[in-house]
Amino acid sequence: MSHVSSEPTIAGGAAAPLDHTRDVAARTIGLSKVYGRGQSEVRALDEVSLDILAGEFTAVMGPSGSGKSTLMHCLAALDTATSGTVEIGTTDLSSLNDKALTELRRDRVGFVFQAYNLVPTLTAQENILLPLSIAGRKPDAAWFDTVVDTVGLRDRLGHRPNEMSGGQQQRVACARALVSRPSIVFADEPTGNLDSTSGAEVLGFLRRTVTEFGQTVVMVTHDPVAASFTDRVVFLADGRVVDELSTPTAESVLERMAAIQTRSMAAPAHLNKSVPAQQSER
Ligand code: ADP
Ligand code: MG
Repeated sequence: MSHVSSEPTIAGGAAAPLDHTRDVAARTIGLSKVYGRGQSEVRALDEVSLDILAGEFTAVMGPSGSGKSTLMHCLAALDTATSGTVEIGTTDLSSLNDKALTELRRDRVGFVFQAYNLVPTLTAQENILLPLSIAGRKPDAAWFDTVVDTVGLRDRLGHRPNEMSGGQQQRVACARALVSRPSIVFADEPTGNLDSTSGAEVLGFLRRTVTEFGQTVVMVTHDPVAASFTDRVVFLADGRVVDELSTPTAESVLERMAAIQTRSMAAPAHLNKSVPAQQSER
């Protein structure tokens, strides 16, 4: 625990809930992201307007290529949009210079990647504390302990990533995202590489950070069971928000996914009516 100050810090007690006084933790207004130009143009996001409520666990679902990762990266200030607005709290990201953006990424946003993205040569504890070390900040010892105990990593702190299971590595990545007490945590398919038991542990842990600490979490997932851990599901298709669901269950999510798929299959069929059906046989 050499990196961790044992003195009480400003942030205070271990179980003190995060202070979320705002209703909206993050917001996009008319957010569009276009990759490429001309014939190769891809509209990854198409006028997305979305409010993420503070203290809620939100899932983002949608087919592969529907823009989920692009949305997360734009929200977390890891990427910039082509047009439209992103706000974290009441801060419009376009108003920030590079230095302020770096600080926002470091202090106000946490990100969990599908592939963990841990530094292989560092121990679990060093990985968790890395963002704070880089920033030259001392962690809040009580909060560090709370996070470590919540993710169940107490006896793994001295292990390197290759000495840990995928589930343990992802829990290290979650702890790393939380240790600076960000106002919002984004997780892009955090259980995508995990077996169902490890996945359920990570999901249970993310759920607890929302319920017990008031953390705001936004998670991309393909899995209706994973989505059932959340408070709200937002469905994307072709870069647009096409539906949403409150207090989801695995069944209600599956139903909604099926309905969206039926609609999207109906659309091209309708368009194809104007095209000769056997075009390739000329
Ligand atoms: P999802 O996470 O839902 O699978 P993405 O946000 O990764 O979707 O991608 C949305 C669309 O944008 C896809 O068509 C994808 O091919 C395209 N795309 C994503 N990143 C890039 C990039 N760097 N350059 C060009 N196209 C991209
Ligand atoms: Mg993705």
